[in-house]
Amino acid sequence: MSKQPTVLEFMERFPTDDACLEHLMRVRYGDRHTCGKCGRDAHYYRVTGRQCYECEYCGYQVFPQVGTAFEKSSTSLRKWFYAMYLFCSSRHGVSGKELQRQLGVTYKTAWRMAKLIREYMGQVDGDSPVGGAGKGAVEIDETFIGGKDKRGYENKIVVMGMAERGGEVITRVVPNRYMKTVLPHIRQNVPEGSRVMTDDWSSYRSLSSWGYKHQVVNHSAKEYVRGDAHTNEIEGFWSIIKRSIRSTHVWVSPKYLETYLGSFEFVWNLRKQPQLMFDLLLLAFPRPVAR
Ligand SMILES: [Zn+2]
Repeated sequence: MSKQPTVLEFMERFPTDDACLEHLMRVRYGDRHTCGKCGRDAHYYRVTGRQCYECEYCGYQVFPQVGTAFEKSSTSLRKWFYAMYLFCSSRHGVSGKELQRQLGVTYKTAWRMAKLIREYMGQVDGDSPVGGAGKGAVEIDETFIGGKDKRGYENKIVVMGMAERGGEVITRVVPNRYMKTVLPHIRQNVPEGSRVMTDDWSSYRSLSSWGYKHQVVNHSAKEYVRGDAHTNEIEGFWSIIKRSIRSTHVWVSPKYLETYLGSFEFVWNLRKQPQLMFDLLLLAFPRPVAR
């Protein structure tokens, strides 16, 4: 299946907390794994009535929830799974309010769950470089996110993004859009020799002297596409984020913006393999070291 399951398929797949625990166990530890105690390649059986599995040879127990966000949570595993599913299946993000409604938990619980899930999405996403030899051109652009804060003051945050066409996107919250600010991020994330596309903002003027094959679209002269020189892909990414913040999150504080951006990068970067999102998210929890 190369699509995200429907809500119904998801519910049928995970009808109970036990079904969720079983899935968590198999995704994190596999069907068999080297036993932390006896060292044999073992299958682990579910211990009836307990949240654990034990080694077929020595009885050593593994608790699949240890090290995950679910471990000490009083919210059921099934609700966590459903919350994660919502995040994976929505291109425009999920607000705390939305989770509260869908899961029937308090707003405080929903808000905490949303924050944790976004953090894990960002962790899974990582930041491998974009562009490079034989890869798609990298569109580089910056945008202003936010609007008026709670007191009604203008409060915009500058975000720069580097998007490989048909590939991944990397974003950074930056203090301003000057060359000395944006250039180090480009040098760090886009290998020399890459084709890069930008608008005519002055910060990008020196890119060819740093070894990039640089093409410019003259936005200030109302030019948006010349041949294959354009920045439509990164602008598409910006519009998803802006629409989401407008429609669901109302106001994102600078402190949480990076977490939000990480979760949007995750969804964007896996847009061609959405069926992998859910399990990748479960794998993001660090596996405890066997004692
Ligand atoms: Zn064992």
